[in-house]
Amino acid sequence: MPNMQMEKTPIPEQKPEVRRHNFEEVSQGYTEEMARNEAQRCLNCKNKPCVSGCPVGVHIPDFIAHVVKGEYEEAFQTIKLTNSLPAVCGRVCPQESQCESKCVRGIKGEPVGIGRLERFVADWHMQHGSDKAQKVPSNGHKVAVIGAGPAGLTCAGDLAAKGYQVTVFEALHVAGGVLMYGIPQFRLPKEIVQKEIDALKEKGVEINTDMVIGKVLEIDELFDMGYEAMFVGTGAGLPNFMNIPGEDLVGTYSANEFLTRVNLMKAYKPEYDTPILDVKRVAVVGGGNVAMDAARTALRLGAEEVHIIYRRAEEQMPARKEEVHHAKEEGVIFDFLTSPVQILGDENGRVSEVECVKMELGEPDASGRRRPVEIPDSKFKTSVDCVVMAIGNSPNPLIRSTTKGLEANRKGCIVVDEETMKTTREGVYAAGDAVSGAATVILAMGGGKAAAKSIDEYIQGKVK
Ligand SMILES: Cc1cc2nc3c(=O)[nH]c(=O)nc-3n(C[C@H](O)[C@H](O)[C@H](O)COP(=O)(O)OP(=O)(O)OC[C@H]3O[C@@H](n4cnc5c(N)ncnc54)[C@H](O)[C@@H]3O)c2cc1C
Repeated sequence: MPNMQMEKTPIPEQKPEVRRHNFEEVSQGYTEEMARNEAQRCLNCKNKPCVSGCPVGVHIPDFIAHVVKGEYEEAFQTIKLTNSLPAVCGRVCPQESQCESKCVRGIKGEPVGIGRLERFVADWHMQHGSDKAQKVPSNGHKVAVIGAGPAGLTCAGDLAAKGYQVTVFEALHVAGGVLMYGIPQFRLPKEIVQKEIDALKEKGVEINTDMVIGKVLEIDELFDMGYEAMFVGTGAGLPNFMNIPGEDLVGTYSANEFLTRVNLMKAYKPEYDTPILDVKRVAVVGGGNVAMDAARTALRLGAEEVHIIYRRAEEQMPARKEEVHHAKEEGVIFDFLTSPVQILGDENGRVSEVECVKMELGEPDASGRRRPVEIPDSKFKTSVDCVVMAIGNSPNPLIRSTTKGLEANRKGCIVVDEETMKTTREGVYAAGDAVSGAATVILAMGGGKAAAKSIDEYIQGKVK
């Protein structure tokens, strides 16, 4: 008999007043008992609607059935059939709009906690699993992967599993992409990402860091070096700004820079001499997950007051509900229907105030959301010493501007055939944020997987 409990089995979390002062993971994961209790809520539906909600098609009811029986390693192997980064996805995937949104249990109560179970299984495997990655014998073909984010890593892993000699070229000094430099430690511990990367290396994938393709080497040169095909997974790392006065003042950051300084330069560790200024009153502009991450990071760096400034209302915020809930619990202040018009500085050129206007919602715009309209004479100033702009990212133009025949659309996203991930340049495939614009980890992984399949078909087709 399934467990007919209406709500998800609660997951232990650090208390808000404690966690706002540390970088430890907020959610502490299920125990075996909790996991089996939650797994028993799954009805094991015949038509498996949850699977259709997963961009990589994880066999969800099958892995949950293994959890019910306490067969955690089998559950892990079931997930691994289609998802190469389960410990990551169990933590950061927006399950509420994917697999869990299709769960039948969600009609009358809360859906099964699929993400929580995925995380449990992946963590169990990390502690108890013993599999050593098997190196597949080489098939003699070389492929280059540019960018070591989830798209590139997935593509590299799938190709290595088919015997390709894969070299990943990564611009930064560490692999992982946004998983390492963007998403904070308290949501995704870096040790977990590193373990996934180490497992790929064991499979024979070579990762070359500090290699900015387009500067150190160009795609044409990689072809000359014997790589038969390329995968471009360079993400969307170019931050957008509002173009208001004061964005060049000391103390204004893009969210990317702010989070990179913390994540990669370890600003949160007392023994590190970090280049982040000591900030006390922070304004984060934006309403997505990146804004939530920046605001919650600022609190953990010791800020006394952190505001989210968002031009629409709460219902229009694109951030995950769970992230907003966590941010509120931790004391982040939300200024809805508010938009900055300028940032003001002191005599030393450091941020001292942000001037904003109040907004109201007008008619729907092209996105279908009601357009925010400025309320006349509503300007006001708030004193702050740091402003973080988290209003979106675009793909960096470096690769497309240095590669002949590689087309991009007007937003700078590389144009691909959506099924094969083939670009307009022969032998070059692309996926992830570089193609879609800023999106999600699982979509990037799905694209990397599709590209690996196409690259294999392309090379094997040439060989015959
Ligand atoms: C702060 C933040 C929080 C997020 N939170 C979530 C979340 O909770 N859930 C979720 O699903 N998604 C989240 N996202 C989005 C998600 O992380 C991205 O959609 C995903 O990482 C895209 O993967 P990717 O492989 O396409 O690109 P990226 O992860 O951006 O990786 C691209 C890699 O390519 C490298 N690169 C770029 N140019 C070059 C070059 N010329 N040569 C060599 N290497 C290059 C970059 O250094 C980077 O390592 C978040 C994003 C941010 C910024």
